[in-house]
Amino acid sequence: RNSSNHEAAVQHPPGDIPPSRPRAPSRSRTSEWSPTSWRSRPDSQAVRYDDPAAVERIASRIEELPPLVSSWEVERFRSLVAEAQLGRRFLLQGGDCAETMRECRSETIVNKLDILLKMSLVLIVGGGKPVVRVGRFAGQYAKPRSRPTEVRGGIELPSYFGDLVNGSEFTPEARRPDPERMLACYHHAAMTLNFVRSLSAGGLSGLERPDRWDLSFSERTDLPAPVRECFQATTRQLEDALRCMDALGGAGSELSRVEFFTSHEALNLHYESAQTRAAPHRDEYYDLTAHMPWLGERTRSLDGAHVEFLRGISNPIGIKLGPSVTPVEVLRLLDTLNPTEIPGRIVLITRMGAERVDATLPPLLEVVKRAGRRVLWVCDPMHGNTITTSSGVKTREFAAIVREIDRTFDAHDACGTYLGGVHFELTGDHVTECIGGSVREEDLSHAYETVCDPRLNQSQALELSYCIARRMRA
Ligand code: PEP
Ligand code: MN
Repeated sequence: RNSSNHEAAVQHPPGDIPPSRPRAPSRSRTSEWSPTSWRSRPDSQAVRYDDPAAVERIASRIEELPPLVSSWEVERFRSLVAEAQLGRRFLLQGGDCAETMRECRSETIVNKLDILLKMSLVLIVGGGKPVVRVGRFAGQYAKPRSRPTEVRGGIELPSYFGDLVNGSEFTPEARRPDPERMLACYHHAAMTLNFVRSLSAGGLSGLERPDRWDLSFSERTDLPAPVRECFQATTRQLEDALRCMDALGGAGSELSRVEFFTSHEALNLHYESAQTRAAPHRDEYYDLTAHMPWLGERTRSLDGAHVEFLRGISNPIGIKLGPSVTPVEVLRLLDTLNPTEIPGRIVLITRMGAERVDATLPPLLEVVKRAGRRVLWVCDPMHGNTITTSSGVKTREFAAIVREIDRTFDAHDACGTYLGGVHFELTGDHVTECIGGSVREEDLSHAYETVCDPRLNQSQALELSYCIARRMRA
């Protein structure tokens, strides 16, 4: 395996650069690293497949299949992240908690691009910065779980680890980890990305004018007057901007081109390493399942398999940081994952919870700043604010999400650092999974469709983009 791990075999026929070949230390890894060196490290989220030979066979097949993204796209994305690190751009990342193969449908994908596009326009026009759009899609199929099994009605079955591993239905058949799913998810990621690429080529042409967006939140009388006025001013600016673009050549023109990048948690390392290959002409490896893989809160241990895998690839990587992380751990992660300070390499995604930001975030900002490390700070206001209602429904309150964003902006302002992005679990559909806006606790059952964490719906997500734009200007 891995003898043919090359992005394109044209310049380097298979076998040209076996991973064991002696080579000069690369900019981002030591010589012992290989796409499979993670196998000798502990993986607390390892999947217990009952047929290891089938896992190998399927991983070998995924190795042969074309990459989902290219190294030059990854490099372009890295240059944009590098600019964001300098305060010149803002990153918007969003999508499902757990993508499913069943929801690989044209309408779902269109709606997701639509909401991300609308939010990005609000941030560009209202917030005053160019936006880098990153979807949690075309590969967000693997989920870490706090418990390996789930008990319902006295029956214990393996937990749902995402469509990449098993099915969400609570039956022994569905919950059995099946390696064939890796191949099926690769195909669904490819179909999703194919549609995303063709929709983005149409630019803003599919976008409705703001006068048709659901902006009822900006009329709410309980909003403080200055907030309401700011929201209404943003809407007027948006209308002017779109009119101006029309006058300059219309929605189909170069001006209205939009770009989307892909991301997912790099959790199942069989899948990730099978698509990890050396770029032609360069002794650099890329994980070509996505532009930006990220390291989850549960798998960031320094001697673990995930850190080992990620340290050797050249993609920009996200690192989730929860309230238990210490400043020293953050510095060690940066030393291991970015020893040579490559611009655009590290995106630190903080997810502290609204009530813990004030105590936990400032020490991290201080230590990274004092060490002079170059990172992009991003706020994930979702994962620290998950609650369970008295009837047992997992949800999040819109108000807590806004509070975490506000307090995160405050912490960066106080430290003199730049909050350069946000990370959301959202959908373009009209689900009722988070409480806020028109969704009350008793409405949650109306359209609760997520297979994992609760997502913002279209109008909640749009309202949040207005709240963020207001803070970006402040
Ligand atoms: C997620 O992003 O869905 C997730 C599991 O996040 P975290 O690792 O931050 O808990
Ligand atoms: Mn989640």
